[in-house]
Amino acid sequence: MQLLDGNKIAATIKQGIVDGVNALREEHGITPGLAVIIVGEDPASKVYVGRKHKACEETGVYSEVIKLPAETTEEELLSTLDCLNQNDKINGILVQLPLPKHINTERILDQIRPDKDVDGFHPLNVGNLGIGREGLVPCTPNGVIKMLEISGISLEGKRAVVIGRSNIVGKPMANLLLSRNATVNICHSRTKDLAAVCREADILVAAIGKPNFVTPDMVKPGAIVIDVGINRVDNKLVGDVDFGSVKEVAGAITPVPGGVGPLTIVMLLFNTLKATKLQLGLPESC
Ligand code: NDP
Repeated sequence: MQLLDGNKIAATIKQGIVDGVNALREEHGITPGLAVIIVGEDPASKVYVGRKHKACEETGVYSEVIKLPAETTEEELLSTLDCLNQNDKINGILVQLPLPKHINTERILDQIRPDKDVDGFHPLNVGNLGIGREGLVPCTPNGVIKMLEISGISLEGKRAVVIGRSNIVGKPMANLLLSRNATVNICHSRTKDLAAVCREADILVAAIGKPNFVTPDMVKPGAIVIDVGINRVDNKLVGDVDFGSVKEVAGAITPVPGGVGPLTIVMLLFNTLKATKLQLGLPESC
């Protein structure tokens, strides 16, 4: 069984980002900039925003954290976004979710300039992913693909099953696997005989939000098992996969914590660098 170590893989990707940021600065005099907006006092969101800011500092990306009070109106948030859309120092914009209930999240995400949309949630980027055009891709599923690539796991012709169909993880994950020529099934809460569908999978991705949901009877021997889930149980983080028992069946598996999580943040920096290059009209490889 191969343990897919997210921290190690994230460090490799991070080094590439540092090199890319340095090259942009030296060759074009540009420092990529990321703005993160947080509205209100949600404790988990504050932790995530703090980690994003730290990751920017570590890679040489300019970072602005814009903290707005919980009572900020939708119009005020829209006008903050308008300013950032026009700000040349800012190449990537991220609105930390969830937003307070009185704000329409869709309206806010639609307002972000698509070429600064480093979360990849704008309908234009969602559409580009669907039709295989260049764009900004959601960080978590893109991180999973990078992890598989760096670990030398080929996807071509493989049977992949994604459990979960959210716009943030499940659907883009399925699209990315399809774009790498896997044969993809998406499962959800209405799927009949879920275990039987999962047992078909060479690559099984769990993005459900239910602790220890995936058990060994759902896993084909030797399958690659990717656990996107982050659940808090008795003050400990656990995934959607029952790691202790599934690792005995799987060919490779991600732990929680230390699996997919570290890749999500690093892919945010990857997207900020990519957004900067898109805005400058440079190819991604530069
Ligand atoms: P959502 O709640 O938006 O989606 C969950 C999906 O799981 C839905 O499609 C739902 O189906 C499906 N589901 C729920 N119960 C079942 C069931 N009993 N059988 C089959 N399918 C089921 O969650 P997200 O996609 O946003 O997140 C999923 C998990 O990933 C969470 O634990 C979240 O914390 C974690 N996460 C981790 C990240 C990371 O960096 N590692 C980043 C983002 C998320 P239906 O559509 O039918 O309701």
